[in-house]
Amino acid sequence: MAEDPIFVIQKHKSNTLHYDFRLEVGGVLKSWAIPKGPSIDPAEKRLAIPTEDHQLDYARFEGVIPEGEYGAGVVMVWDIGTYHNLKEKDAGGKSMEDTISEGHITVWLNGTKLKGGYALIRSGKSGRWLLIKMNDSEADPMINLLENEPQSATSGRTLDEIARENSG
Ligand code: MN
Repeated sequence: MAEDPIFVIQKHKSNTLHYDFRLEVGGVLKSWAIPKGPSIDPAEKRLAIPTEDHQLDYARFEGVIPEGEYGAGVVMVWDIGTYHNLKEKDAGGKSMEDTISEGHITVWLNGTKLKGGYALIRSGKSGRWLLIKMNDSEADPMINLLENEPQSATSGRTLDEIARENSG
């Protein structure tokens, strides 16, 4: 039996601080940059800008990308886990590739921090997407996970600690 695919959210301090949301689809990591990061409040719609696919083995990368390279700055694995496609069992069944091309993804995340249903929806002609927590038992408008749990899901380190320990 196939294992569930992985998702990762990498906190990335480059020119600006943002969160890279990546889903394993077809052997690569489909990626979106989320300037404000994910929210577990269903009333919050977070802008998600598609970025280039990354290789699967990048999912566990945490460290410093040197000046002059793409994405130069500090990268933290803020959350990591598995997900499943909530539309797989819809009438007819839809693959992740289908839902991406339709611009309407719904997934269930089993992360160390993020859990439950999330929708990722392409909005209008701009090519931009929105990440929205679905209204389920894992939703909570009162909790700010980005503030409460700023550290790495894999090493427990802060961005500053990663920068200090991984530079030079
Ligand atoms: Mn990034």
